[in-house]
Parts: sequence; C-alpha cells; structure tokens
Amino acid sequence: MAAASKNARAGSAKQKFFCSCGGEIKMKTLFEGGKLKNMAECEKCKRTERRPSDFK
Ligand SMILES: [Zn+2]
Repeated sequence: MAAASKNARAGSAKQKFFCSCGGEIKMKTLFEGGKLKNMAECEKCKRTERRPSDFK
C-alpha cells in the first residue's frame, strides 16, 4: 500500500497505458506453444491484447 503512492510520480522510466475502461494495463508473460509470450492485460476488466497500444 505504501509502495503505490511512492511510485505515483516516479518519472518516465516506464510508460503507463490505460484501458478504455480506466483500468491500468499490466504486462504479463505467458508460456504458450513452447515460447514465452508477452501479453498486456487490463487489471480492471481483464481484457487482454497483444500490445498495450491495442487498448486504445
Ligand atoms: Zn479495461
């Protein structure tokens, strides 16, 4: 809980993306077909897209 407010204005090291529902997009790694695959998932509505930019 304390860590969340500490990172609120952490700068530009990581770009944040937001879903159209207002939820924050989190990157996650899936193991699929013998390969590691990055997916972007909205933490609020659980929508998944291949890239964070696909949520717009
Ligand atoms: Zn969403």
